[in-house]
Amino acid sequence: MGSVRRPARKLEGLKPYDPKYLPADAMMSANENPQDVSDELRRKIEAAVRRVPLNRYPDPLANDLRDLIAEANGLDRDQVLVGNGGDELLFDTALAWGGPGRTFLNMPPTFSVYETNARLTDTDVIDIPRLADEDFAIDEEAVLQAVSGPDSQVDFTIIASPNNPTGLRAPTEFLQALLQATDALVVVDEAYFEFSRMTMRPYLEANENLVILRTFSKAFSLAGVRVGYILGHPDVIREYMKVRQPYSVDAVSQAIARVIFENRAEFETGIEAIISERERMASTLRSLPGVHPYPSHSNWVLFSVPQAKEVWQRLYEVGILVRDFSAAPGLEGTLRVTVGTPEQNDAFLHALRRIVR
Ligand code: PMP
Repeated sequence: MGSVRRPARKLEGLKPYDPKYLPADAMMSANENPQDVSDELRRKIEAAVRRVPLNRYPDPLANDLRDLIAEANGLDRDQVLVGNGGDELLFDTALAWGGPGRTFLNMPPTFSVYETNARLTDTDVIDIPRLADEDFAIDEEAVLQAVSGPDSQVDFTIIASPNNPTGLRAPTEFLQALLQATDALVVVDEAYFEFSRMTMRPYLEANENLVILRTFSKAFSLAGVRVGYILGHPDVIREYMKVRQPYSVDAVSQAIARVIFENRAEFETGIEAIISERERMASTLRSLPGVHPYPSHSNWVLFSVPQAKEVWQRLYEVGILVRDFSAAPGLEGTLRVTVGTPEQNDAFLHALRRIVR
């Protein structure tokens, strides 16, 4: 025969995730930390990796790393689960709380992976769009209404705080009200919380339906290694364990993440620099003709600019890669620039000033 049957119907119209990662002098498109780990830390990592037996399967649950994370958060091991990047845990969320006949509440524009995972698991999606003329704040009233009452269909929701790619964090009082208004699982995606200085950690004890997602990829300079984790109620974590891939976090990644986590205080200076550079970039962007930056609590700035697609191209031609959202639904005319080193940020601002003049 030589031919192949069609894949599952749900794949029709789906596009593979494309980070639009292109080589450039200044990589300012993927919300990574512009600083790689220090040489000293790299030496510690090398020593730790050398001790890893490569012929043995890793600890499936990464218990040593779990214990470090649990202790730092004042929790027990059974309230922590480690995954192959936050991405794996987001997929596990859809596997465990979604599925046919189940409903996910989404607040677009947001991280596109949430919706893709829902579609891949045949989960129904209810959209409550963010308020474009209020800097993409959550439509709090509509969300609370959608989850409240015995007739609500919503089984789970995911709220990025700060929200990628728009920038605002979700107000604590709103998240608190949401947790109290529903028994749906509420995942607060804190992938960038180090840059907003706000966490829902204090609300875990009182809310069995709260899961907090974190990652090593951003503040901790470890996007290349793929480690993320969730914090939640032990019963919820146990459900996640049923759907996860047994050995998704390899032994080398576990060893590297342990070293990074034990030395996490080292990253504080870099985090502070990113926050202050973010403010500098936003205020310079505000001064450029036609450019409108959205407020950001994270390590990027989303901005609208006339002829955004052409602007993206011209930035790329001078070696600066930013993320093009100019054709994304709800984000038309915008680009997102990740905070880089001060030199990269200067180069970006200088180039953009020349382009818009
Ligand atoms: N959540 C959000 C909002 C993100 O932007 C990202 C990274 N793009 C992730 C989760 C997942 O990151 P990782 O898989 O690298 O941990």
